[in-house]
Amino acid sequence: MNAVGLTIDAARAAVAAQTTTATALAEQHYTRIAKIDGPLSDGTPGDAINSFLALTRDRAFAQAERIDQMAARGESLPPLAGVPIAIKDVLAMRGAPATAGSLILKGYRPPYDATAVSRLEAAGAVLVGKLNCDEFAMGSSNENSAYGPVRNPRALDHVPGGSSGGSAAAVAAHFAVASLGTDTGGSIRQPAAFCGVVGLLPTYGRVSRYGLIAFASSLDRVGPFTRTVRDAATVLEVLAGPDPLDATSADRPADSYVAALDQPVAGLRVGVPAEYFEEGLDPEIRAAIERTIDQLRHAGCTIVPISLPHTRYAIPTYYVIATAEASSNLSRFDGVRFGHRSADSTTLSDMFRHSREEGFGPEVKRRILLGTYALSAGYYDAYYAKAQQVRTLLTRDFLAAFRACDVIVSPMTPTPPFRLGEKVDDPISMYLADVYSVAASLAGICGISVPCGQTATGLPIGVQLMAPHFGEATLLRAAQAVELAQAVPNS
Ligand code: GLN
Repeated sequence: MNAVGLTIDAARAAVAAQTTTATALAEQHYTRIAKIDGPLSDGTPGDAINSFLALTRDRAFAQAERIDQMAARGESLPPLAGVPIAIKDVLAMRGAPATAGSLILKGYRPPYDATAVSRLEAAGAVLVGKLNCDEFAMGSSNENSAYGPVRNPRALDHVPGGSSGGSAAAVAAHFAVASLGTDTGGSIRQPAAFCGVVGLLPTYGRVSRYGLIAFASSLDRVGPFTRTVRDAATVLEVLAGPDPLDATSADRPADSYVAALDQPVAGLRVGVPAEYFEEGLDPEIRAAIERTIDQLRHAGCTIVPISLPHTRYAIPTYYVIATAEASSNLSRFDGVRFGHRSADSTTLSDMFRHSREEGFGPEVKRRILLGTYALSAGYYDAYYAKAQQVRTLLTRDFLAAFRACDVIVSPMTPTPPFRLGEKVDDPISMYLADVYSVAASLAGICGISVPCGQTATGLPIGVQLMAPHFGEATLLRAAQAVELAQAVPNS
């Protein structure tokens, strides 16, 4: 069995039938990572993808061994048995480095597992390592990582998207069968679109945030990257459900997302929001999304024009709320309890100042300044309080739209993946890359990015589907219809 092209069901079935072992699967994936992820042995970047920041071999092989023993004893195997899965470096894995892509957390090893991590492992997953990302998940290209950018496996001189760039690249490059990412304003869905894989944003509260290094707590969500929609459903079924360790996790059990995939999509009402097809949308992406809409119509869905009238306020609203929460969350990094402490300070306040000055990168500093400004006396009402009001309007847009439709379809990104370095010096143009992702983040609804074609030069294109709060079963069903249509040329 080969690491390339493996699905969760195929991996688990092969381990159960003992045609391979979990240990062999882990070895094959580590061999591939060593060969392709780099850095290359002569020290040049070469085509190194740079998606991993740390490998967790001991833990992976101990788990693989456990699974192999269960298979040898003929025990029934859990849903992710023997499946190699990698974790974005903002989630805690006991004893492993957790840098969040930042120098300020260099050397920090949390003494506990994030709930999402422990649930994957309890379901049999083999956790292979920690994945590169933008510093504290702030970015859309993975170029804000203190540990170097990640390359897009589908086009090496292009960005993989961000902030979960390593999570998308690792799945696209077949370094793992699935990965975990986080999405605050698009960081699962946008890199999934850029790398040609599936990225699922669960409803806020669906998956526990316990053990996640916080960026913006009212927006942060944990979700999977996979190569198929069915795999995304399988991983979500493992991750979802209440967690007493996260007060914002919803008190409702996981649904049967995989079983729901068998229901037909005929009759589903698919909303097309006019505001997501205005100027600024790349023509090749527009064409791919329109083709996808036609495919859904052919599959028996009813296409419904809808309006989300406050869409144009989503980016400014997001960048006020997210930075405000970040400025508060990141105050805990002061050189006292974790990570980097400046060596050359003689007073306590110097130690705080120098540790933060040396430890944070430029984008994180920009966000802390923006957020502190938005929260400060005299500006709070004009910015933070106003943004919260607009957030309510954006949420109401979706609630009204979902009276007329079951899922919404839209472009995922305004452009195909851009080149490394193309936008790094232009924060505003980088923020605009989030134009189709942040509204769903602010509203708390679920969403998914599914591959739906490529540009003439072979760059991946993703389509976004969105569904109401806790509507993942319907969302995944529609996503699978999109995926199936890709396999049938000209359908
Ligand atoms: N690109 C957005 C930002 O920079 C979203 C990041 C995210 O979802 N973590 O804030």
